[in-house]
Amino acid sequence: MVWSEAEGGIPVGLALIVMAAFGLGFNRSMQHTKHCVSRRSVANGTETSDLLHRKSEGIDVKSISSCALCDVDVANKNDSGEHILLQSLGGRRQVFGFICKICNSRTGQLWDASLNQELAHVALMHGVNRQRSRELPSKKISTVDETQLLLHADGSMSPAEPTFKAIEVDGKLTYSAIARNVAEAKKMIGGLQKKHPKFEATLTTKTEYNNILKMDFSVGGPQSGRSLVKTAVAFAHAMGIPHNDCSNAMHYLRKEQAPPCYGHFHERDLVSGRSSEHLIHCVSVKGDSSKQALLGYVEYFSIAKVVVLLSDKYLGPDVQQIYAIDPSSGHELPVKIDLSLTQDELDRVVHVDESDFAAYRRSLDQAFPVLMGRVWQRSQDQAIHNAIGQAFKELGIESDEELLPNQYWQFSELFVKHLRPYLEATFVIPAL
Ligand SMILES: [Zn+2]
Repeated sequence: MVWSEAEGGIPVGLALIVMAAFGLGFNRSMQHTKHCVSRRSVANGTETSDLLHRKSEGIDVKSISSCALCDVDVANKNDSGEHILLQSLGGRRQVFGFICKICNSRTGQLWDASLNQELAHVALMHGVNRQRSRELPSKKISTVDETQLLLHADGSMSPAEPTFKAIEVDGKLTYSAIARNVAEAKKMIGGLQKKHPKFEATLTTKTEYNNILKMDFSVGGPQSGRSLVKTAVAFAHAMGIPHNDCSNAMHYLRKEQAPPCYGHFHERDLVSGRSSEHLIHCVSVKGDSSKQALLGYVEYFSIAKVVVLLSDKYLGPDVQQIYAIDPSSGHELPVKIDLSLTQDELDRVVHVDESDFAAYRRSLDQAFPVLMGRVWQRSQDQAIHNAIGQAFKELGIESDEELLPNQYWQFSELFVKHLRPYLEATFVIPAL
């Protein structure tokens, strides 16, 4: 009998590389919006039920000291620190005097949680440094053959559930099982030995590197779309632009049936100065009084990229500010964002057609090598870390003890033994 068990997590890198090489398993569909509307129709939207308060309410909003979403006073106790970019995805900067605590909580649980869920697998693969927050929860993913796996915060994977099979071969009953860790495997063996006292088990550990994963990169439903738009309005607020100057966005955020005031933008890269080491999050707002346009741009992981038509009646000062971070560190980045969109481009923002998919695919093709680089580096770091840990453990050396000179050779052998599955999957190793 053979017991297969994943020792620790499986570095996800090689699985993804296989996927990328053969172009399998992707659903790159651009799932934007059932509503394709013009800017005019956004401005002329009819009155609908209030999104957060269920009562009928006009779209006009009051001074900057009132909640942008429900109009209550946000001074003092009722004020909330709203993260401009999602804290759960590594955002740092907060705005105050923007929305009340209740709206912060509600939109966090509905809108932000939805966006967070759509981007969770990218966050786990890339790595996110979250401020004052626990590590990212593991997410269930599947391979093209429908094997269920868990993707973990360190970028590794493990079987989602243990499996257990009894097979009769030549009159002999053979049990085969996959456990998620050694303790789980030993528990299974113990259970069988109670049932069959003569039962003998062979426990082997095995790490699989060659699964092809299925991933969905769709972003922007009714909930997550509002999170993206809220980010642009929050950044405008941080720039000193009152939320009532973001009339299209406020209508969309407040009215459940309002058409989206944003669209995915992939036909050209508006960001310059990207790093090849990591993906980025960024937000920018630009006010152009000559065009009466107040535009926002929000990007997560260099994959979700949206232009937000905050207002087409903007008469404030000509301004632009940019806030960009590396999600793996939270450090701010000096990128430039060109929001000088042509009228044709603006008109296309809220319209989606066939050509958008090709543009989206080109955009993903630029982001993917960077994501793969992160995955590769993290899986290599993880494999080396695990191999060192296993070698120390087998030598009986505690973490605070030093390796003695007479243990060097044995340590090297054990280190290579535990690193070998990773090396075999990474490089072609000739038979000895
Ligand atoms: Zn509120």
